[in-house]
Order: sequence, then C-alpha cells, then structure tokens
Amino acid sequence: MIKDLNEVSRPAVADRFDRPLKDLRISVTDRCNFRCGYCMPKDVFGKNYSFLSSSQLLKYADIVRLVRVFARLGVRKIRLTGGEPLLRKDLEDLIRNIAGVQGIVDIALTTNASLLSPQRAVSLHEAGVHRLNISLDALTPEIYEKINQVPVPLEDILDGIENALEVPYQAVKINMVVQKGVNECDILPMCERFRGTGAILRFIEFMDVGNHNRWNLDKVFTAREMVDVIHPVYPIEPIKANYRGEVSKRWKYLDGQGEVGIISSITKPFCGDCARARLSAKGEVYTCLFASAGYDLRPLLDSQLDDAEILGKLHHLWQGRKDRYSMDRLSHGDSETRGRTSQKVEMSYIGG
Ligand code: SAM
Ligand code: SF4
Ligand code: SF4
Repeated sequence: MIKDLNEVSRPAVADRFDRPLKDLRISVTDRCNFRCGYCMPKDVFGKNYSFLSSSQLLKYADIVRLVRVFARLGVRKIRLTGGEPLLRKDLEDLIRNIAGVQGIVDIALTTNASLLSPQRAVSLHEAGVHRLNISLDALTPEIYEKINQVPVPLEDILDGIENALEVPYQAVKINMVVQKGVNECDILPMCERFRGTGAILRFIEFMDVGNHNRWNLDKVFTAREMVDVIHPVYPIEPIKANYRGEVSKRWKYLDGQGEVGIISSITKPFCGDCARARLSAKGEVYTCLFASAGYDLRPLLDSQLDDAEILGKLHHLWQGRKDRYSMDRLSHGDSETRGRTSQKVEMSYIGG
C-alpha cells in the first residue's frame, strides 16, 4: 500500500522561489520504438540519429545511488520514463532497488504500452510501481498511426491498458496530448471509452518542448476548449486537487462515472509549484523541462566523492534554481522566451 504523501517531512532544500524538491523524473533510455511527431519526429530521429550507446547510459547502481541522495534532499516521488522505459533491460531490477530507498513513497512509470503484456503489467507492479501513466492520443487507428508514425496496432495499446487495469495499481492514467486539427475529434470517443473503467483520462496541451516538433500556439488545443467539448456531452465539474502542486486539474463526471484531468501547461502554467527535477539517461540533472543545459553528475559519480559531497552539490544546484519558463512564456510571449532559450533539450532525452 502506498504511504500517504502528506506524511512527508519539511523540505530539506528550497530554490530561489521557495519551491522544495519533491519529485524526480528519471529517463532510463533516450530510445523509443515510436516516432510521435510532437516528441521524436521521424525526419530528425531517423536511421542516422545517434542515440546513446548502452555504455553511455547511467548504470542502475548509479541511478539508485542518486535516488538515495535525492531522497535526502526531500524527493519522495520517482517517475521512470524515457524514451520508452520498457525498452531498457531488466527494468524491474532497478524498480526493486528504488523501492527499497528510504524516503521514497511513490514510484510511477510512463509508457506507450506497446510492450505492456499481462506478465509485464504484473512484474512492474510486483517490483514496486504504484502508478502507471499510459500515452494514447487517439482511438481512430488512422489518427493514432499518423501521430506515432509506426505500424503498431492500436489494439495492442488497448490490450496493454486492459492488462494494466487487471493489476491492483494505485492508479492507471491515460494521457492524451491534444493537437489542434489532428486529434481533437477523438476527445469524446476517449471519454466514452474510459468513463467508468477506473482509468483516469488526462488531456494535455501540446507543449513547445525540444527544438524539432514544429510547435506553435495555433496548434495548441487549449484546456478551455477541451472543457467546452466535453461538458455539453458529459457534464463535468472541477474538484479539489489531491495535493498542492498537482499539475492536472481534476474534473468529475456529474453522473458518477469517474474523473478526467486537464493539464494546461501552456495556457495556465504551474511553475509556481514546480518541485520537479529530471535526470537524463546519461546522468545529467535538469531543473526545468525547457532547460538548455543540465548539470552532469557523471564526473562526480566516477570520482572518489562520497554521497555527502554529491548531496552538497545538488543542494547548491537546487538552491540556485530560478526556472519558470512556462510562466515567462505566458507573460513575455513565445518569441522572446524562445530567444532566451535557444537550444532546448529534447523531451525523450530528459524524460517527459
Ligand atoms: N514513451 C513514453 C510515453 O510516451 O508514454 C514515456 C516518455 S514520453 C516523452 C512522456 C509523455 O510526454 C507522454 O505522455 C507524451 O505524450 C508526452 N509528451 C511528449 N512530447 C510532448 C509535447 N510536445 N507536448 C505534450 N506532451 C508531450
Ligand atoms: Fe516515444 Fe513517448 Fe516520445 Fe512517443 S511520446 S516518441 S512514445 S518517448
Ligand atoms: Fe517546472 Fe520548468 Fe515546467 Fe515551469 S516550465 S513547470 S519550472 S518544468
């Protein structure tokens, strides 16, 4: 049973805007078997793209060591992501070891579910995953394939979701990134499909992550527009957040068929409560999804530094943090913010 997140003790470190460090997202691989246009477009991540070699990936022992240090700085929640995390070998070994770290009360995993067999759904849970997020952007096969750009049958993903729902996870969430003119027509079919199933459907505004997804504001189907599509057919009302800083705004169906979440990263950013660090597949820490550079921990791990010294470096890093990219974009406009962050890191590299 997951421990209560509110039991968490006072923050061990706070940044320049008094935000604690509570969550760590770990990208376990930069590779993926999909080529979603908004994340790893085929023309950029093609045959000649040089992904990290297996020797460049942070070793499991180093990841666990860092989780131990981060836990001492206040991290309680871990999310494993990528790339596609289920591509990394023996992932369950890593999860078991993270689950044993004192202070870690919640382990989640984000996956495209293409490899989520019934056995895998069970073994991930047994290893220590409490919550699963599954990405599914459409229910119309042609739209689904047009988005992910690989011939993986939609039925495989739906089976993966069914497999997850058979296992007593604390939560199974379905993430749909809504792009204007691409998949908003599937919002209502997605509601219809997942209402009353126990899975929580979440609609996400298309974000300007990375440098290659050809984002512009006109392609963002906004949170407001999402509510305007859902509400007339399936009436919904806002409900209280589960905890402070929850990025997804919760809405419940008035007919008792569960809830949906809406993530307004673009139109209503949540930098004010952002308590999240990211660890890249190679071992760099990023303090913002839109950062252009990370802090490379590999030299520290490879040297003779002990954990207390690494903790000191991370403490210093977080104390100096003043990232709030999305809020700046909102107040200063897209082009100016973009100008200041010329080369952003790719999401598949630091983990979505
Ligand atoms: N491969 C896994 C998956 O797709 O679930 C995990 C990694 S993926 C980078 C994590 C999440 O980021 C997915 O839910 C994906 O839809 C989301 N994502 C990627 N690019 C995005 C973008 N430009 N805007 C909004 N969400 C995005
Ligand atoms: Fe792969 Fe996930 Fe990115 Fe799609 S969103 S390309 S599945 S990492
Ligand atoms: Fe956090 Fe950066 Fe996103 Fe703001 S833009 S919510 S600081 S990751």
